[in-house]
Amino acid sequence: MGLVVQKYGGSSVADAEGIKRVAKRIVEAKKNGHQVVVVVSAMGDTTDELIDLAEQVSPMPAGREFDMLLTAGERISMALLAMAIKNLGHEAQSFTGSQAGVITDSVHNKARIIDVTPGRIRTALDEGNIAIVAGFQGVSQDKKDITTLGRGGSDTTAVALAAALDAEVCEIYTDVDGVFTADPRVVTKAKKIDWISFEDMLELAASGSKVLLHRCVEYARRYNIPIHVRSSFSGLQGTWVSNEPTGDKVEQAIISGVAHDTSEAKITVVGVPDKPGEAAAIFRAVADAEINIDMIVQNVSAASTGLTDISFTLPKAEGRKAIDALEKAKGAIGFDSLRYDDQIGKISLVGAGMKTNPGVTADFFRALSDAGVNIELISTSEIRISVVTRADDVDEAVRAVHTAFGLDSDSDEAVVYGGTGR
Ligand code: ASP
Ligand code: MG
Repeated sequence: MGLVVQKYGGSSVADAEGIKRVAKRIVEAKKNGHQVVVVVSAMGDTTDELIDLAEQVSPMPAGREFDMLLTAGERISMALLAMAIKNLGHEAQSFTGSQAGVITDSVHNKARIIDVTPGRIRTALDEGNIAIVAGFQGVSQDKKDITTLGRGGSDTTAVALAAALDAEVCEIYTDVDGVFTADPRVVTKAKKIDWISFEDMLELAASGSKVLLHRCVEYARRYNIPIHVRSSFSGLQGTWVSNEPTGDKVEQAIISGVAHDTSEAKITVVGVPDKPGEAAAIFRAVADAEINIDMIVQNVSAASTGLTDISFTLPKAEGRKAIDALEKAKGAIGFDSLRYDDQIGKISLVGAGMKTNPGVTADFFRALSDAGVNIELISTSEIRISVVTRADDVDEAVRAVHTAFGLDSDSDEAVVYGGTGR
């Protein structure tokens, strides 16, 4: 029996009862003969509450002190969980990210893990302990300051530790039974996926599926760590995310699922001169403001004016910054005006099978049109088609596409056990 890393999300440890329930589960794994490392998130909505609190004392909290504050959430849950395990008669020790050897760069609020040196965790395990590690945090290599990994970062902590400790599997416990063919909060007929490749999971995560973070899946793929996403509220098998299906894990379907995202906005740069260098200048200005963009569409220019429009999507949270950056560069770039629209949504169909199955795109557009949904932008990769629509149309569109591709389940397997979705 090898080493397992188990990660429990905030909704799994939302209160004292939850912590005790999770402690029992952890002890079971230990009794089955595993060495167990647990990564835990902050209880329930603690991180959001800490952010609210910080905003009351400072308009735009950021940087060192903000990270110091946010990591407190995970310290609370790790200590309580260790106590609950001891209460069940087993040895446990909790560690902050820094103590666990999670070394990051020094970009506060969204640090990247650059090394993991889990010496203390190894020692704790060798001495027969269950090791509990605070997720979502590390220590910067150069300044030795406490950092956080960005919202939802505990998943990444778990995979990074699993890689460093050469774990058999990284189990991610959440408030649903696994990865579903669509968000079960929107599609009640969503089906649980038994196995999905890293490749398809990466596309789903990049397209707005919230069950696993993109960075976490990227890390798992790089180090080839199988992830088992499952619920801490049920005993069911969840979803395996790995390179190859093994044993009883079935083959991957043609279409893995439908993802949606309402966190983006669209900027249209109106009246751009149709000559070389214009797109470069626009996206240089946006990049210099450190903004990641998603889709881009350029229209054919009107012959009479020689002007064109360029639209792109980006996180709503970066909207203000992008508009400011473009306004500043307006003279140099030479466009007419900017339009900002944050009432958009994105629907994506993902599946490696679309590479070899003609007609997927046509069926996707047909389903949207039958549902009366208008398409504003389209983008594709080898294994994904995405469209932008009105935000109000998103739920309806996701359900229509899900049904059209035969993904609806005939049993009610999409149970949401917890979480406020906040
Ligand atoms: N507590 C952090 C958050 O809410 C990290 C995590 O949950 O993974 O974003
Ligand atoms: Mg959380």
